[in-house]
Amino acid sequence: MARGQTRREFVEATVAGLAGVLAARGGAAFGAEPPPAARKPNIIFILADDLGSGDVGFMGCEDIPTPNLDSIAKHGVRFTCGLVSHPFCSPTRAGLLTGRYQQRFGHENNPRYDPSDHKAGLPVSEITLPQVLKQAGYVTGIVGKWHLGAAPEHHPLKRGFDEQFGFVGGGHNYFKANPAGETREYLIPIERNGQPVEEKEYLTDAFSREAAAFVRRHAAKPFFLYLAYNAPHTPLEAPDKYLARFPKIEDPSRRAYAAMMSALDDGVGLLLAALRELKLESDTLVFFLSDNGGPTRYGATNGILRGGKGALHEGGIRVPFAVQWRDRLPEGKDYAQPVISLDLFATAAAAAGAQLPADRKIDGVNLLPHVLSEKATPPHERLFWRTGGGTSYAVREGRWKIVKTGLGDPMLYDLEADPRETTNVADAQPDVVKRLVAAYDAWNKELVPPLFDSPAPPPKKKGPERKK
Ligand code: CA
Repeated sequence: MARGQTRREFVEATVAGLAGVLAARGGAAFGAEPPPAARKPNIIFILADDLGSGDVGFMGCEDIPTPNLDSIAKHGVRFTCGLVSHPFCSPTRAGLLTGRYQQRFGHENNPRYDPSDHKAGLPVSEITLPQVLKQAGYVTGIVGKWHLGAAPEHHPLKRGFDEQFGFVGGGHNYFKANPAGETREYLIPIERNGQPVEEKEYLTDAFSREAAAFVRRHAAKPFFLYLAYNAPHTPLEAPDKYLARFPKIEDPSRRAYAAMMSALDDGVGLLLAALRELKLESDTLVFFLSDNGGPTRYGATNGILRGGKGALHEGGIRVPFAVQWRDRLPEGKDYAQPVISLDLFATAAAAAGAQLPADRKIDGVNLLPHVLSEKATPPHERLFWRTGGGTSYAVREGRWKIVKTGLGDPMLYDLEADPRETTNVADAQPDVVKRLVAAYDAWNKELVPPLFDSPAPPPKKKGPERKK
């Protein structure tokens, strides 16, 4: 039992510390004040899938109440320029779990679902955050969507996670999963620790249930939970229980999307309630963000931002993004400097007191001193994006942003004066264009070509499905 051995080794290696933690937990359960910094903080990443910048309350959404997601921003820090390292699913996840621009290791497209494809996935030479945190004594779990390769060596249990509940593909039907042997990506079995299980609940509810159970199961030790909802990604499917909350939304796609977000928000409420009951709120760092901007043709909105999923305009890469760590981070603070999904890796490692890999470039930075106002400088001098192996790219430097698409010339936007990216000012600012293009060229030289291509998109559904 490799997992059992790992757990025993973990206990032996940290027995003194764990005993102290257990004592502190016991005390807390009976109302005593836990000693400060008595334990390493738990870390939770909650990732939504294809959630638009305009579709949560804390970013101004009016037709979909999200009180639980809003509470993260209310009790923590809202990043008003929270960015992701790619405008679509899998590459963002590769960057999130490695802290590195994913094009450094060729992860620039979505892997197709094929368990016999050993190339299409997060290269095993990359070091993942759960691997780093395990070395610091953490128990690690993933609930939800993986999308970083379907071959056995790419499985989350082989990439640093002690426990898994979810599916390994890029999306899933919310009501149906077939038994072992199913090869259509959105119908593959739901797995628990790599083994197919029968799941009867609406998938979003099932993920919420499993996330709360993980926290309860591991309340006594430092844990890392990666809760990667596939909601509100297509297929737009929601039970009547959630659809009934939105009788006034007429557009069927928007209504299903709203219902899916409402389920996700309820689930986050369950998870936060578990932390509260276990008196773990001040011991737990909770990040929430989306993996890319919203696809507007599937019911999402991106507020005032231009474009959506797949685009390098802000609508594709700027997402709802917030963090809470009660009693440690400011509450109700807005942080306006650009931050990026890559930063979660370094932030989590710093909070855990874990060593960052020293043999490779880590692009993300620890955000804690920035949100605590210990560092006044922006976390990043520049940020970069590349899609299609260089077909398109973008560079952000302060107020300036270059966007180059296909064969067109680089366009320059002043995001302070023009947050909607309506006016290309490249002709008026040739020096800025030159500097940012040169910076891109230098960064691009550090990258490799894409290791694998994205598969053709799945067949389109005609409309949202409704089920009980
Ligand atoms: Ca996505």
